[in-house]
Amino acid sequence: MFNKILIANRGEIACRIMRTARKLGVNTVAVYSDADRDALHVSMADEAVNIGPAPPRESYLCGEKIIEACKATGAEAVHPGYGFLSENAGFALMCIENDIVFIGPPAAAIEAMGSKSAAKSIMGDAGVPLVPGYHESDQSAGRLARAAAETGYPVLLKAVAGGGGKGMRLVQNEAEFGDALAAAKREAVSSFGNDDMLVEKYLSRPRHVEVQVFCDQHEHAVYLFERDCSVQRRHQKVIEEAPAPGMTESLRRQMGEAAILAARAIDYEGAGTVEFLLDADGAFYFMEMNTRLQVEHPVTEMITGQDLVEWQLRVAAGEPLPLEQNQLQIHGHAFEARIYAEDPDNDFLPATGSLVYLQPPPESRHVRVDTGVLQGDEVSVYYDPMIAKLVTWDENRERALGRLARALSEYRISGLTTNISFLYNLATSEPFVRADLDTQFIEKHHASLFHTSNDARVRDLPLASLYLLLRMEQSGQDRVRGDDLFSPWNSSSAWRLNEPAVHNGAIVLNGTEYDVPVVEVGSGDQRRFRISAAGKTVLATGELKGNELYADIDGYRQRVVVVPHDGMFTLFSPAGAMQFALARPDYGEEDSQSGAAAFAAPMHGVVVKQLVEAGVMVEKNQPLVIMEAMKMEHTIRAPRDGTVTEFYFEAGDQVSGGEDLLKFEPA
Ligand code: ADP
Repeated sequence: MFNKILIANRGEIACRIMRTARKLGVNTVAVYSDADRDALHVSMADEAVNIGPAPPRESYLCGEKIIEACKATGAEAVHPGYGFLSENAGFALMCIENDIVFIGPPAAAIEAMGSKSAAKSIMGDAGVPLVPGYHESDQSAGRLARAAAETGYPVLLKAVAGGGGKGMRLVQNEAEFGDALAAAKREAVSSFGNDDMLVEKYLSRPRHVEVQVFCDQHEHAVYLFERDCSVQRRHQKVIEEAPAPGMTESLRRQMGEAAILAARAIDYEGAGTVEFLLDADGAFYFMEMNTRLQVEHPVTEMITGQDLVEWQLRVAAGEPLPLEQNQLQIHGHAFEARIYAEDPDNDFLPATGSLVYLQPPPESRHVRVDTGVLQGDEVSVYYDPMIAKLVTWDENRERALGRLARALSEYRISGLTTNISFLYNLATSEPFVRADLDTQFIEKHHASLFHTSNDARVRDLPLASLYLLLRMEQSGQDRVRGDDLFSPWNSSSAWRLNEPAVHNGAIVLNGTEYDVPVVEVGSGDQRRFRISAAGKTVLATGELKGNELYADIDGYRQRVVVVPHDGMFTLFSPAGAMQFALARPDYGEEDSQSGAAAFAAPMHGVVVKQLVEAGVMVEKNQPLVIMEAMKMEHTIRAPRDGTVTEFYFEAGDQVSGGEDLLKFEPA
């Protein structure tokens, strides 16, 4: 085994690799860019070397600087992680030339899988099943069109040098072919500088099923079963699971053996993944081979009980594979959800900002969180905005999925937009629960995953209202306890002499304001809230324990989780996640605005408008400033009569979560 290795990567994967290295007694060297001086992976390493400015071209992608860092620290081997230099044959060669072990396959194997058409030729010759189509060198438009006709429409045109879904076009019929070819070529040239194309039969409902393989330097090869990564957005994986639902033992063996055939065809060493398209009829076809450790490797670790990074280090150090094929077994089921700083409602636009509050769910035998960030860290524009990988395991799919949904509802992040509620919607959606998977999953179930209209969500308005009422009562009680216990004036409930208590709060969903008036009826055990929302009136009661709301609405009882963040709330119910905010604070929240903190910006956002002049007398509840954050407008109101003595920002200014917006002096 090595004495010291260098990890040429950052974030969660660098931390992940270091955990295993430490377990094996191997010393670790981190590299870091100027943007990562305070990053978790740097503090976890035994030594760390600065390799330059934030842009990856000048640091993490700079092979020479990595080699220099190895020499300076005496690291014997480099683990490239995934991304960056992990599939760069030139870098693998550079390591060897400098007597440094590259923890990955031989450069020739990386090279062989670099071109889609060359990879297909090698795999076809080795007897690995291919999607019917054409991958020869004659690139004339006539030949390609004939290939498409022979293959049979619909076909997919793919850039030979492609990746990340670029240079790919679906062609439905002969009439579309000419335009589609021109468009695919244009995209391929600008992205890869190479417009060679291949033609593939377009499978209408395939699943993405990939097989984990491992080879050592002693001719041994095993497969560690499959992962289903069908749920994708723009050809990027969103949730992965292992094993693949509905897999038969015989299909598993066939795919596993085909994957080993593929690996052997290129004299593979180390960890690799062979990606297949699995058709509805059980036929499977080679798509590509990833010559590195995959992001989603933890689901394989969870069901096999193996540490794949340990396997990588052992193989690279020349040891034989730790286990043989017949010693490997699947136990239970695992999911991985990629927690991203991004906005699913805005075409998954990456988000940047500060992780003002960050609390992952507690880790256990069932829940694993692989991350490279801490509370207070920035998600910058320079790198992939993945915050963490949330991995859950249990005896079967249903239970593992239940754990995933629960863990997602317990994942607390404030300060920037994340995909957590989208992932929750996905994990609890009926077709996903049924394992009705294919690569069009997100497009097909768009309406239920994105809640683009509020129609379905308004049903949960009474739950939101009940939560706000109980929360208000709780904070009222907290206040009363520290004050005059018996004074009704200290109660924040809408206390009225001889009159039913009435609350006229309004709730915002997706930027639309809903009046949700509430009347308290009955008393003692019989007390109920009569809540009217979206044309319906219900009788509700319940109890709030921390973030858990035990609700009874017209006798229907349920437990849901509500998480406050950034001045808003996310309600996680079996129907999905719903974000709401208090539009008018008539549910009693106004008292909490008496301190200066109430004028802190709820989160990263933009000041939209100042509604009053500094120094002018305002009345209690008068709107002072409008802020926009997470596509919702938040109105900051006067807590009581008084004056704003100073505004710290102007309209159009960006503000960070927690920054004071204005100074208020009560009359
Ligand atoms: P890239 O390398 O650009 O990511 P891939 O060849 O890996 O492209 O394909 C990416 C995704 O496109 C696959 O995961 C699958 O969802 C879809 N895809 C690829 N080939 C086909 C095909 N022949 N039929 C249907 N879908 C396909």
